Amino acid sequence: SKNILEVKDLKVSFNTYAGEVQAVRGVSFHLEKGEVLAIVGESGCGKSVTAQTIMRLIPSPPSVIKGGSVLFDGKVEITKSSKKEMEKIRGSEMGMIFQDPMTSLNPTMTIGKQITEGLIKHQGLSRSAANERAVEMLKLVGLSNPEGRVNQYPHEFSGGMRQRVMIAIALACSPKLLIADEPTTALDVTIQAQIIELMKELSEKTEASIIVITHDLGVVAEMAQRVIVMYAGKVVEQGTVDELFYDPKHPYTWGLLRSVPRLDQRSDAELVPIPGTPPDLFAPPKGCAFAARCPYAMGICLEVDPDQTPLTDTHAAACWLLHPDAPPVERPVEVGR
Ligand code: SF4
Ligand code: MG
Repeated sequence: SKNILEVKDLKVSFNTYAGEVQAVRGVSFHLEKGEVLAIVGESGCGKSVTAQTIMRLIPSPPSVIKGGSVLFDGKVEITKSSKKEMEKIRGSEMGMIFQDPMTSLNPTMTIGKQITEGLIKHQGLSRSAANERAVEMLKLVGLSNPEGRVNQYPHEFSGGMRQRVMIAIALACSPKLLIADEPTTALDVTIQAQIIELMKELSEKTEASIIVITHDLGVVAEMAQRVIVMYAGKVVEQGTVDELFYDPKHPYTWGLLRSVPRLDQRSDAELVPIPGTPPDLFAPPKGCAFAARCPYAMGICLEVDPDQTPLTDTHAAACWLLHPDAPPVERPVEVGR
């Protein structure tokens, strides 16, 4: 298979004391080997839950996989894998980079130990081979004096360096799939740019396929080849980066693009937020989930949830405006990259 990942109609809910939250409501996408795919959307859209489900990182309960399939590397059905199988896969074939490296690094363990642990346990490397690999990984992510660095603790590193260490840990086992969830959000702007540059470089150097989860379209433009836009637990639009930036078709994507500061004035530009809030996922609307915030909503939008309309081989969007009988609308903004 040329796909490292095939997600089909994935549904994930959380059982809470207040009822069932339908966090992911039928998500489908694929990831080709060597590809960088971005998943974008506001917080609460289901992008992190989707990623964490792919790695089975959310405990169940409270999360429940309600349906669908996640096929990894053409052979492993992730939704049906045991805890033990998942531990092995995560230690040898998948890596994850989180937003806040401080909470995912162990403060009481040297960086070297944190890199070598998985290599010894899951890949059967000897201690000395693992140590060598740790030094090599720290070098790869651009840390100077890696031989000394392996003996240091997380608090001895700056925020940007800690994120480099996280990347080193995630890549140490040469994963086939790397998932980065808001990898630069906690960092300041200059460091963000360096980490993005590093991840781009690594995606070219290593064989890993990458999913990058972000609300930052600047990250998408810099890193990804394809993009999935999620809203209220569903994919509302998907396409190549060019299709999404230059020819977006879904009103939510229009809103997202308009809410992006220009890349050259990133730090002080005004964000134009999309008015309104996402729907309550305890009781999702029966029609289009974006209808309450959409300036183009029509009668049918409140009644029937639109299917994805294919636009090209790579581009599709779920919106009634793409129906042949829909009234024409003028796209509100021209967005440049
Ligand atoms: Fe707006 Fe209707 Fe399209 Fe939903 S289906 S985004 S409400 S026009
Ligand atoms: Mg998140």
